[in-house]
Amino acid sequence: MKRILVVGGGAGGLELVTKLGHKFGKAKQAEIVLVDRSRTHIWKPLLHEVATGSLNIDTDGISYRAHSAKHYYQFQLGCMNGMNAAEKYIELDALLDEDGQELLPQRKLQYDILVLAVGSVSNDFGTQGVAENCFFLDSHRQAERFQQALLNQFLRIQQGDGQDNLKLSIVGGGATGVELSAELYHVADLLKAYGMPSVSAKRLEVELIEAGSRILPALPDRIANSARSELSRLGVKVSESKRVIRAEKQGFISADDNLIEADMMIWAAGVKAPDFISKIEGFETNRNNQIVVLPSLQTKSNDNVYVIGDCCACIQPDGSFVPPRAQSAHQMASLVFKNIQASFRGEPLSEYLYKDHGSLVNLSRYSTVGSLMGNLTAGSMFVEGRIARLVYVSLYRLHLIAIHGWLKAMVIMAAQKIGKVVKPKMKLH
Ligand SMILES: Cc1cc2nc3c(=O)[nH]c(=O)nc-3n(C[C@H](O)[C@H](O)[C@H](O)COP(=O)(O)OP(=O)(O)OC[C@H]3O[C@@H](n4cnc5c(N)ncnc54)[C@H](O)[C@@H]3O)c2cc1C
Repeated sequence: MKRILVVGGGAGGLELVTKLGHKFGKAKQAEIVLVDRSRTHIWKPLLHEVATGSLNIDTDGISYRAHSAKHYYQFQLGCMNGMNAAEKYIELDALLDEDGQELLPQRKLQYDILVLAVGSVSNDFGTQGVAENCFFLDSHRQAERFQQALLNQFLRIQQGDGQDNLKLSIVGGGATGVELSAELYHVADLLKAYGMPSVSAKRLEVELIEAGSRILPALPDRIANSARSELSRLGVKVSESKRVIRAEKQGFISADDNLIEADMMIWAAGVKAPDFISKIEGFETNRNNQIVVLPSLQTKSNDNVYVIGDCCACIQPDGSFVPPRAQSAHQMASLVFKNIQASFRGEPLSEYLYKDHGSLVNLSRYSTVGSLMGNLTAGSMFVEGRIARLVYVSLYRLHLIAIHGWLKAMVIMAAQKIGKVVKPKMKLH
């Protein structure tokens, strides 16, 4: 029996493995295996909510093991660190327990068809001191680490002399930085209701630093302007055209040699594929470590290896590259599912064409702004308010439907609504 191995159960990989499980795993026509370095899936666009405690991975995350049992695939916990395309295997790090004791040595996993869907990590562009002093939001572990540190800082304010503020500096004015800034104000205000009367949004000093001339550089001006005014209204200092050249314990150092003091520093500027990707022999990679793929999403050198989502560099007919977004990962998962079936039947493979359905930026409970692309509007239509919020929420719902099916997704959504009534509005531990 052929083994289809998918590495990375994120926005793209988990949707793909679910489809493959139902198509081939259920009928035992192929063995479907998912490898992920985490035990739990959380949709990455929600990581800033994990970071602020608005989402709780323990209750809102999806256990791969439980999911695999229901969707006819196997789950292997492990972190890929390399592969040999000629001999058709991937290599996994040794598996350690919480105390660093080895549970399993380094391993090799064979495949007949491989799909790489390992996503991306923040790119610090080699900026000195960033790795040592900054928080990142690349994984739910990092988001949880930030959440714990944030709670500790709020505790300091609550139990201090009543004069302290919390200074947070966020580098990167993309969706992550913008959404995180707004979410921070939301949770700071929530804490008043949870026995921390001294903590409120007034105690926050958030600076959002963007090297480019404006925040949300990948989105139209109107969205950036709207997001900027909403952030400023909340109290965020939006610093555009400001380049950070170093991170130190006390804060960031800007190109004009000023210290931007901060109690907590977050780096959310730019993404690249994980470093191990660029060390794999035989694949063409770009300067962001992404693997350059054919329009069929196969690698140029191996037609049994597909790459989807943030870790692939897929060029479009107009010369641009497909942007690293959840919607691209979702669309690529659907195409690879189709192409694997076509390859089994000996039929020609389809080519991937990115369909931009628009982009939305959610400023917590305060506002949602964005653009929707539609046939009716013959281009991009600016949206904000309730409609934008509704579409934003529906993107996550579509992901839930893709990995659970309609019925279970509806039950989960209903359970989440009920949970909001009975549980605290944020994670407090
Ligand atoms: C805070 C935030 C907000 C965002 N908001 C939006 C938005 O509003 N709209 C939008 O379209 N996009 C948004 N994005 C981008 C979006 O999340 C990504 O483009 C999308 O998740 C990419 O999907 P993927 O499947 O390629 O990778 P991911 O969803 O990142 O999944 C990668 C998976 O691979 C696993 N993995 C990584 N390395 C290894 C390894 N070595 N071995 C084994 N497993 C590994 C990870 O654990 C993870 O499960 C946002 C991102 C962030 C961080």
